[in-house]
Amino acid sequence: MTSWIENSEERLTANFRAIQQAVGDQTAVLAVVKANAYGHGIEQCSLTLARAGAPWLGVNGVSEGAQVRRALAETGLAPAAQPAILLMCGFLPEDVEAIAQHTLTPVVWIPEQVGWLQGTGLAVHIEVDTGMARQGVTPGVEMDELLGEIAAAGLTLDGVMTHFCAAEVAHSALTQTQERRFEAAIAQVRSKGLAPRWVHAGSSSSVDNPAQASPWLVDLANSVGARAMVRCGCALYGYCVPIDGPAASSAQSKLRAFLKPVMTWKTRILSLRDLAAGEAVGYNATFTAPAPMHLAMIPVGYADGLRRELSGTDTRPGGWVILRGRDGSEHQAAIVGRVSMNLTMVDVTAIPGVRIGDEVILLGDGITAEDHARLAQTIPYEILCGVRAG
Ligand SMILES: *Cc1c(COP(=O)(O)O)cnc(C)c1O
Repeated sequence: MTSWIENSEERLTANFRAIQQAVGDQTAVLAVVKANAYGHGIEQCSLTLARAGAPWLGVNGVSEGAQVRRALAETGLAPAAQPAILLMCGFLPEDVEAIAQHTLTPVVWIPEQVGWLQGTGLAVHIEVDTGMARQGVTPGVEMDELLGEIAAAGLTLDGVMTHFCAAEVAHSALTQTQERRFEAAIAQVRSKGLAPRWVHAGSSSSVDNPAQASPWLVDLANSVGARAMVRCGCALYGYCVPIDGPAASSAQSKLRAFLKPVMTWKTRILSLRDLAAGEAVGYNATFTAPAPMHLAMIPVGYADGLRRELSGTDTRPGGWVILRGRDGSEHQAAIVGRVSMNLTMVDVTAIPGVRIGDEVILLGDGITAEDHARLAQTIPYEILCGVRAG
């Protein structure tokens, strides 16, 4: 194993509780475990979140749903005591058998999906498009037809959901428009005499965003006798994107202070070498030692998810890793030269007693997915999902 992930179950549980605390007990929290639990490992995280009390887990596709259901079943939990599993991102006709076998709850938004599910008697959620223009049925005639087809196909409408496209923006006009459209959709559901159990909207940023503190969702859910729910992923794993708005808004971020990164991504030093002043390291010799240096080689590179933008050059410092010196204290070691496909060089000149085989922290406390994201000009989500330990 050239690199591996150590997850803190304690932190995952604490992050889930922090989210639950922030939303209050009138609102449930669906724990999003799609994309292999944002790179953390879907089975382990699902079990921890189920134990923490998550009533729902959200997966991407059918194979993830099946994997989670099997893992839950193996714990010996009775089916009724297991979290429900929301199949969030669509399916094809050939998936229906597995959906039924593993009791997944599919999100549907087009008549074709309803047709494929006919005869299964499954519970479904509908996604309402309120402005994302990705998944979702348009309120009005289109939604009327979908609701009619769901009833005709013998399916149960268990939930109604929508997804915000700018949840991290304080006082976003886009979000307000989406909220008005979702209200209209819920009124439409009510006017048909339907009584879904769940009404859900919002993600980690919705919970974190101080401008979305209102009991809006709870009131809306109650208007059809349903329970309100938010769907959180990123925050479970310890990350939130900054609130976009006046400085005061980010200062009021409701979650950030309570979250801790769950993942520690580690590797070990494979070899050590000296570099004389004036010698260069790595592809295209982008870094030249200004003075004699001591370098460590780690067996991780961009193929493993350590982004190439973390390369350290003469003109631009790059990323860093964390090493523990022989004195037990933690040190940063800067990445020098280009990150290669499976190899990276780090500067250990100032760290006493570094040896081959010593552990190196690639991501975790002291070097977060936010640090990587800043350097790679992306979001922590992409960094976490990109980690390929093994
Ligand atoms: C991924 C996803 C979420 C979770 O978003 P976070 O920002 O990670 O909390 C919520 N809802 C839907 C529909 C998603 O696809």
